[in-house]
Amino acid sequence: MKIILLGPPGSGKGTQGDLVGKKYGFPKISTGDLLRQAVKEGTPLGKKAEVSMSQGGLVSDDIVIEMVRDRVLSSDCQKGYILDGFPRNIPQAHRLEEIDPERQEIVLDVCLSEPTLIDRLSSRRICSRCGAVFNLVIHNTKKRGICDECGAELIQRQDDRPEVIKERLRVYHENTEALVEYYKKKYVYHCINSEAKIEDVFKSICTILEKEIAKSREIETSQ
Ligand code: AMP
Repeated sequence: MKIILLGPPGSGKGTQGDLVGKKYGFPKISTGDLLRQAVKEGTPLGKKAEVSMSQGGLVSDDIVIEMVRDRVLSSDCQKGYILDGFPRNIPQAHRLEEIDPERQEIVLDVCLSEPTLIDRLSSRRICSRCGAVFNLVIHNTKKRGICDECGAELIQRQDDRPEVIKERLRVYHENTEALVEYYKKKYVYHCINSEAKIEDVFKSICTILEKEIAKSREIETSQ
């Protein structure tokens, strides 16, 4: 199974991707996480990506595609994987089809209204060590400013500052939104309302995935 999590920044697709990954045993590949790691380590790729990321723009397709190709072709992705934050535009979608043409794409578009997105992004905090994600309003830590998972300090992502959030949403509308129509026509596409509680959104996603898994089993046995 190749699951693509579409949706604007802050819609909760990363959180849902983690839950889906745990339940179904697929690795989640987040291009944002891979890039942030490269920036943190100061690799040549990280240095190239850093400026665009801090300004809320997209990193060049070539860099991101190379990263994704290496990852999806690794052995732990043989059964399937979940993509979070990739593709971000039509050329990236085409390249993904070339990299892994065999597997059917299931697209889950995690949607949320713009005012809620802005609220969620500006109150998001991440752990400076393990990267766990919290929210000052809907999912705060037990001890203020300290990660529940590993006890390290929480920080705000550079690109969760108000002026950068605005730019990220603009970039989403300009580049990524076009993928909705593209995938609706081409693959299995489901829109998921992410306004509900995390566990309820997850339940809706599981219902969809169970149906898709059953369908693909039927096809396999009939062949
Ligand atoms: P995210 O964590 O998915 O919100 O990504 C954070 C930032 O990483 C984005 O604002 C982009 O600068 C960069 N990025 C992540 N994924 C991609 C992608 N598929 N294509 C280009 N840039 C990306």
